[in-house]
Amino acid sequence: MKERILISINLVVLLVFLGFSYVAFTIATKKDAPKVIQQTIIESVTVNDTLTISAVGDCTLGSDPRYLVHDSFIKLTERNNHDYGMYFRGVQSVFAKDDLTIANLENTFTDATERANKTFTFKAPPSYGQILSLGSVEVVNLANNHTYDFLEQGYKDTLKTLDDLGISYFGEDIIKIMEVKGVKIGMIGYYSLYNKNIKEDLDKGLTALKKSNVDLILVTFHWGIETHYRPQESQRELAKYAIDNGADLIIGHHPHRVQGLETYKGKHIVYSLGNFSFGGHVNPKDKDSFIVQMVYKLKNSKIEDAQIKIIPVSISSKKNVNDFQPQILEGKEKDRVLKKILDLSYNFEYQDE
Ligand SMILES: [Zn+2]
Repeated sequence: MKERILISINLVVLLVFLGFSYVAFTIATKKDAPKVIQQTIIESVTVNDTLTISAVGDCTLGSDPRYLVHDSFIKLTERNNHDYGMYFRGVQSVFAKDDLTIANLENTFTDATERANKTFTFKAPPSYGQILSLGSVEVVNLANNHTYDFLEQGYKDTLKTLDDLGISYFGEDIIKIMEVKGVKIGMIGYYSLYNKNIKEDLDKGLTALKKSNVDLILVTFHWGIETHYRPQESQRELAKYAIDNGADLIIGHHPHRVQGLETYKGKHIVYSLGNFSFGGHVNPKDKDSFIVQMVYKLKNSKIEDAQIKIIPVSISSKKNVNDFQPQILEGKEKDRVLKKILDLSYNFEYQDE
């Protein structure tokens, strides 16, 4: 979304501006009863009778400081005089027009130097958070395997960076409710790959959202096997379990590849969005990705009808190197990526315009 003023307040304050306001709550679920600890109000100057939500995959807006090669995200940003707006310029025609853009943020924004003991640890200075705000990204998922790359300090700094920029976040114990055009959207996310208690955690999140009387429940799962084009049976089962228990849309990421979609009981499952602006690799072999968009028709702020849109994307504007600047595909390349996604899908019928 563009042309908006964003105000963040720690206490629950009600603000009405010209009758069109966006309200967001963050709920902490660690305690028994969900508690509203923060409210964010975003005002918009536009209103219409549809609500459009876009979601994208892995955004690793930084580098591993041990491997700062010439083509790395950090070095490229420095060579371009920190032009933070360049990364999402190729997708602005979509992000600036929708009502809510959700990304999977898979790096930390921190100056901390003490890193977790693992293969890749990603970070960027807090100023790089502007890539998201300049790119019209309003919400990020933090439930993934890189949130704690620079330990507790890195996580805290990342939250502060997002708070300072007015970007909302959710994942694990953080539940987000945003009210957009009068529609209450509840968002929960889980890094489910090695979580044996995933169903219990999911139940807690879904219960909290149902108690809050949201109109729409969106669940993200960070799951699956890297470089695989198909989800595991256990993922398909978990997605259906979430829908059976109230979820309206399931969004997956982590495999670094696009996977298919599935429709179950009229709700959609997106198994993997793939990479998006991915600083984790300077030249991945497979650069295919997509933006998934839900367009909800509204009547008196109630959802009447939902339509899903697949917008094929390349994660780079260059073919032989990753410049981390996703581009919307056209023509034959668009058709190829769309066909690839549909061929990988299950019980999913798609109507392209
Ligand atoms: Zn991951």
